[in-house]
Amino acid sequence: MPGFELFGDAEKKEVQDVLDNGVLMRYGFDGMRNGHWKTRELEEALAKRMQVSHAHVVSSGTTALTTALAVAGIGHGDEVIIPNFTFVATFESIMMTGAIPVMADIDDTLTLDPSAVEAVITEKTKAVMPVHMCGSMADLGALKKICDTHGLLLIEDACQAIGGSYAGKPLGSYGDFGCFSFDYVKTITCGEGGALITNNAEYQTRAHMFTDHGHDHIGNDRGAEAHPFLGYNFRISELNAAVGLAQLRRLDDFISTQKRNYELIRSALTEVDGVSFRRIPETGIPNYSFLNIFLPDEATASRSAIALKEAGVDGCFYWYDNNWHYYRKWGHFQKPESIFPLNSEMIDRIKDRNSNSYPNSDKWMGRNISILIKLSWSEQEVQDRAMKMAEVLSQVLIS
Ligand SMILES: *Cc1c(COP(=O)(O)O)cnc(C)c1O
Repeated sequence: MPGFELFGDAEKKEVQDVLDNGVLMRYGFDGMRNGHWKTRELEEALAKRMQVSHAHVVSSGTTALTTALAVAGIGHGDEVIIPNFTFVATFESIMMTGAIPVMADIDDTLTLDPSAVEAVITEKTKAVMPVHMCGSMADLGALKKICDTHGLLLIEDACQAIGGSYAGKPLGSYGDFGCFSFDYVKTITCGEGGALITNNAEYQTRAHMFTDHGHDHIGNDRGAEAHPFLGYNFRISELNAAVGLAQLRRLDDFISTQKRNYELIRSALTEVDGVSFRRIPETGIPNYSFLNIFLPDEATASRSAIALKEAGVDGCFYWYDNNWHYYRKWGHFQKPESIFPLNSEMIDRIKDRNSNSYPNSDKWMGRNISILIKLSWSEQEVQDRAMKMAEVLSQVLIS
């Protein structure tokens, strides 16, 4: 998954263009910039690669998610359904607009279980936000049907799955919005950055304004521009966008390397009795950033994670006990624990609409180990690693 492994001449060349003219901002300074508009170029390239009409690049994946909600008019008191296995950014981005995150269970895809989503819909629900965790996608066909029936928006968090597809469409392009992160540990990186994509021209117009203090971007005098509504500063810098531009051009190469490495490890683990694999929804193609396996039960999975670590196999995650990715360690959200006062309705509703026990998700997460797929391994290194993992897991499973 990590684009940080392969930072080279292509990235340096793009950054050098920006350094040469010194225009670090994405808007204005037309005369000084020597024709370099890195953010714009990145947006055009991203829209093309994702087969959508609009892409807007911002400061992070988190701000991309907040922007999607804001431009769709989702805010105070509205509810957004999210999985309880994701990154904390999911609920952070929702609370930022005053809306209420409502957790639902995941299934053996390790993403939102469509029937669990249906069970928590109320008249306050405005959107469903599936998260394509660890390189593979939610059952978008089933979720879209639910959204259409109830008049809800489908906002894809594709931060961890850029380059994958579903029903022949790039992940992120299936729903009303797709959001990507280009932080330092994602498949491609800007250092820090993110993007939202959509086919809705009105959302796109609002997005460029909202993420730049409400600037309408009409005319050549920034100071004279109008501000039709309130905004924030979620801008990316040209330096960061320049890195992303070079990285996006390498995306398909990165994915084919990940695929080779993933398949080598997968075929070695297929031989181990007791190891099974995450379900990938029909028509889905992952981006191969992680290989996700299930062990027969929680105790075996927990022991396997420890055994792999002791054997020196790094990059194997037991998310069930992780502070950042699974609801069991999200006391600060459940409470909620804020350094500034939140409105009391939000506090009550978060407590009321979320549980601190989700046995259906625990059933899958307790048994799961996520294996990070790196780009920089040689074929021999992957083979050795795959053999070692198979050996360690076989031993745990026999004992
Ligand atoms: C990384 C990530 C985000 C947030 O992206 P940042 O660019 O780090 O703000 C959101 N959702 C998921 C699933 C992520 O993995």
